[in-house]
Amino acid sequence: MPDRGALAGPRQLLRRLREAMAEPVSPQARLDKIVVHIASNMVAEVCSVYVLRADGRLELFATEGLNREAVHLTTMRAGEGLVGLIAESAEPLALSDAQSHPAFSYKPETGEEIYHSFLGVPILRGGNTLGVLVVQNRARRTYSEEEIEVLQTTAMLLAEMIASGELQAIVRPGAEIGLRGPIALEGSPLAEGVGLGHVVLHEPRIVITQLVAEDLKAEEHRLEEAINAVRESIDKLVDRSDHTGPGEHREILETFRMFAHDQGWLRRLREAVHTGLTAEAAVERVQNDARAKLQRRPDPYLRERLHDLDDLANRLLHQLTGQSFVAANEDMPDNAIVVARSMGPAALLDYDRKKLRGLVLEEGGRSSHVAIVARALGLSAVGEVPNIIDHVEQGDAIIVDGSSGEVYVRPAIDVEAAYAEKARLRARRQEQYRKLRDVPATTKDGVTIDLHMNAGLLVDLPHLEETGALSIGLFRTELQFMVASQFPRMEAQIALYKSVLDAAGGKPVTFRTLDIGGDKILPYMQAFDEENPALGWRAIRIGLDRPGLLRSQLRAMLRAGAGRDMRIMFPMVSDVSEFDAAKEIVEREKRHLSRHQYELPTSLKLGIMIEVPSILWQLDEVLERVDFLSIGSNDLFQYLFAADRDNRRVANRFDPISPAFLRALRKVVDKGQAAGKSVTLCGEMGGRLIEAMALIGIGMNGLSMTASSIGPVKAMILALEAKPLRELMDQLIAQNHGSEHIREALRSYAEAKGVPL
Ligand code: PEP
Ligand code: MG
Repeated sequence: MPDRGALAGPRQLLRRLREAMAEPVSPQARLDKIVVHIASNMVAEVCSVYVLRADGRLELFATEGLNREAVHLTTMRAGEGLVGLIAESAEPLALSDAQSHPAFSYKPETGEEIYHSFLGVPILRGGNTLGVLVVQNRARRTYSEEEIEVLQTTAMLLAEMIASGELQAIVRPGAEIGLRGPIALEGSPLAEGVGLGHVVLHEPRIVITQLVAEDLKAEEHRLEEAINAVRESIDKLVDRSDHTGPGEHREILETFRMFAHDQGWLRRLREAVHTGLTAEAAVERVQNDARAKLQRRPDPYLRERLHDLDDLANRLLHQLTGQSFVAANEDMPDNAIVVARSMGPAALLDYDRKKLRGLVLEEGGRSSHVAIVARALGLSAVGEVPNIIDHVEQGDAIIVDGSSGEVYVRPAIDVEAAYAEKARLRARRQEQYRKLRDVPATTKDGVTIDLHMNAGLLVDLPHLEETGALSIGLFRTELQFMVASQFPRMEAQIALYKSVLDAAGGKPVTFRTLDIGGDKILPYMQAFDEENPALGWRAIRIGLDRPGLLRSQLRAMLRAGAGRDMRIMFPMVSDVSEFDAAKEIVEREKRHLSRHQYELPTSLKLGIMIEVPSILWQLDEVLERVDFLSIGSNDLFQYLFAADRDNRRVANRFDPISPAFLRALRKVVDKGQAAGKSVTLCGEMGGRLIEAMALIGIGMNGLSMTASSIGPVKAMILALEAKPLRELMDQLIAQNHGSEHIREALRSYAEAKGVPL
């Protein structure tokens, strides 16, 4: 550890700067003072601050030592000259002979040619460059590691000043500071629609109110205590997961533990406190550097580790500041767009639905459950938006285009106007779809496709009437269980299923029994760490192993359906014997209810979801037993292609419009038709236009989808001719064309026939 006496200088500098920050002077006067303090403390002849503007140029905002006239006049591109190089690389640069560096570029108005030594550091916030801070000396000299450290710490204070928006008032007229300027980002569309609103960070950024330490000893102590507390909590988590064997979760924890005990990381934290920062400012400072370095690495493994390091730093900050981990509902703006790195479906359901308009995620694929919930809630959502968290602040204006995958942060006025217009247009189009409500979805050549709706929350139910869907083809019962704070009791379940049936107003409802496990976690149920949760203990597997759970749900369904027609289906059936076992439980429950004089449903139809490939080779046996089949294409696809639907590296690697998948689906359709049993598809692909066309082209005549897709799919069907489409699909599949070719062929076909896509 460096000698304390040597560091009195930096601490004194930080104290001076803190005073300068608090003085009631203009932003320019404050910056001018700051550069004087830095220059004098670092015994440099020059100290200059460059701030990154929205147009990508770095503008000289203040200087001690260079020509004052150059302030707000001199600018350079990121990448241009030494200052531009630092901004681009986000790394410090120390040179004893600046002029001989190949990137050196001479700005005559500054008069800097007489200074030989140069030390510049990036001004960073959340890993993003906001500007560059430079000191220069006339004599050729080597800047020490410690001086570089001090300048980096000082840059943190400037980052806060820039982030506060205070400097916007003095930027060259007509320009804007980068941080607050508009940015457009692109991700993958998760849920259709346009959402205009304000950012709500799912995990609010910790606000550090005090950067400079009052009492060094006290800060050192706070840091050590926080490190110990975080380490202890992680050790405990690792120990607990020891009993459940290896797993992804376990690995993450181990990585956590590795960082928490990493001497290099801890040393950097301690050193940062030693330069005069508060413990929380030190954590942020060290994390900023790590982010800046790792974000620019091409290695995905290292970038992934950045998440772990971020999480660890966050834990430390929460420990130090006592601030909450999640956004509070009370502070939600009326048009809230939730922004998160990743999120489970239950967390999204915790938000006040009346205020939610959209969702933006850094991770999260199209068929992840959080995306399904977003669609059920009618939100526009975009996933896989790189580094969105670093680009937004709480309350920023934001537009989410769930159709194109575009996200606009702090949009320019014209973009906002264009989107407001788009939202109006969409409303008009919805109006046209509403007019189709009572028109059957029949193709021009007379083939009727039954359109059903997926639901899972009571808020979904009014859509049944609005869209004219024939039935609820999939009611995901687990969503209600996920929003409850404890396991819903029998009476509550009966009431819920009754209100679903009532709200359906006589239209059939296909209830699916609990499909939990994987990423669908009930907060009140003991969680098990599994190495491959998608292949783990879930859905019907839990139901059969814990028959009490399944029995009580079935009993509630049968009682709710008294005197009505009921349809129940079982998720994730992998073997026909599982259906037999489930049916046996149903029969037992029926006998039990009859014995106790309860009225039974007038009719009861039982079916299974086709989601696990093994069942494709037991279709004959299955069809002898069931009343109907429903293809869960989300899961069937992930299992057939061995591509995790929630893993963004692979979720979109393969395309459901591929001969392999379509052949599998066609087999189910053909066998179902031959056996005279209904086959529908209730996965997400049924609600997408080209996919729906492909499905109709393989003979599927029942689709269940999210409410907002019904109008567009119906409009498409009305313009379609089924017979030539089937011929085209037969040909494309037989020739084993790639999915891109099939997609393109379907697109051109639709265009030629005037089918709206
Ligand atoms: C499916 O797997 O396609 C399906 C409809 O079920 P879920 O998305 O709820 O897993
Ligand atoms: Mg499924």
